Amino acid sequence: MVAVAALLPACGAEVDRPSVVMVVGDTLRADKLSCMEGPEGLTPYLDRIAAQGVRFDQARSHAPWTLPSTASMLTSLHPEEHGAGGRLGRFTTLDAEVETVVKSFRDLGYRTHAIVNVLFLDPKLFGVTRDFETVDQQVFETNVDVRAAEATTRAALEWIEANRDDGPFFLLVHYFDPHCVYAPPPAFRQRWATPADQQGEWTFGTRPQMVAIRDGELSPAAATIERAEALYNGEVSYLDAQIGRLDDGLASMGQRDELVLVVTADHGEEFLDHGGFEHGHTLYDELVRVPLLIRAPARLKPEVVGAPVRHIDLAPTLCELCDLPVPGQFVGRSLVPLADGAPELERRPTLAHGNMWARPQTSWTSAGWKLIVREGAPAQLYEVAVDPGEQRDLAASRPEELTRLQAELEAVERGMTALRRGEAAALDPRTREVLSGLGYGGEDE
Ligand SMILES: [Zn+2]
Repeated sequence: MVAVAALLPACGAEVDRPSVVMVVGDTLRADKLSCMEGPEGLTPYLDRIAAQGVRFDQARSHAPWTLPSTASMLTSLHPEEHGAGGRLGRFTTLDAEVETVVKSFRDLGYRTHAIVNVLFLDPKLFGVTRDFETVDQQVFETNVDVRAAEATTRAALEWIEANRDDGPFFLLVHYFDPHCVYAPPPAFRQRWATPADQQGEWTFGTRPQMVAIRDGELSPAAATIERAEALYNGEVSYLDAQIGRLDDGLASMGQRDELVLVVTADHGEEFLDHGGFEHGHTLYDELVRVPLLIRAPARLKPEVVGAPVRHIDLAPTLCELCDLPVPGQFVGRSLVPLADGAPELERRPTLAHGNMWARPQTSWTSAGWKLIVREGAPAQLYEVAVDPGEQRDLAASRPEELTRLQAELEAVERGMTALRRGEAAALDPRTREVLSGLGYGGEDE
């Protein structure tokens, strides 16, 4: 690729734009990456990508579950603005008028393709992937029989091989691993599971277990969750190896130095950090802090950025890296200046919203403090700059900070230019059955 800025075209001339591969690891906690706070040796390939590109140490999603979070990545809007999300029994679709960055790429002649492994990313049902020309979706009726990372990587490499000569492309690769069920392949189980589980077949996070936990009929002991987390680590390591295989494939096709590679997650996973398990249910950092790696050798030098950044900033960043006009609807701001080492002139406070299982929660993170608002419960306040684990609620002892954040949040919510509620998703009985098989059943209210 030739530097785009030097080649700004006369009207109608061709610009040599880079292809984009956007990898989303479902349920990949930021602090599992070894180059962040994760176990040594767990993620050598992600660490390699991080070292070659820009690693954002404090990146956050806008929701703790797949549908609203992925929509924010692709629309540069918050869940309350793009409409995709809702909750169990009342899922909502991406608003019809919302523009996705995928459309921006398509309008510029990019080939666009998505490889996804969960019903929430179905282009017709929920709309998040509706602007891709083609979507390779494999939907499973349980969270046990899923397309594993190895097959997802194969599908990605085959698609690139078949399409790389047809001009630039935008490829979304969604890996369902390491979402529960935690059942890593044997080599990863042997390396990362607890000694008792290294040779066995114990898994955790099956649909009946998840339903029982959500219904309050099963309260796994801390020791059980520790075993589950070790298996989860095995899944993370397996995902890492498969992202490494994808990256090696890009290199062997001569693509690695040409394209923009993004690696992130839609959300994290809780292992009793705040007394709960899995995801979708809170807005604490174990669920909303995500890995964010951007490697664009032709444009960005390796860097670690410590300033807080957000998923809504991703789409404008891709626009800048690929010389695409930024749709006026986008509310995020490009991360390129930050990646280039420019001082941050404007803060990037972060709004997160949602709760897949019950009434929504909202969080507002601003200048080292985080406010969490839940209907029918007292507000919570954490000084995340000194208490990153969000263990000490200071709502009662720091009223001035509480008032400041509440006022900021109210102003932001009032000022949202396009407050969208989303259409109720029309789900046929069969689809409901599939969702139910994944543990996402529920009656309409
Ligand atoms: Zn997810």
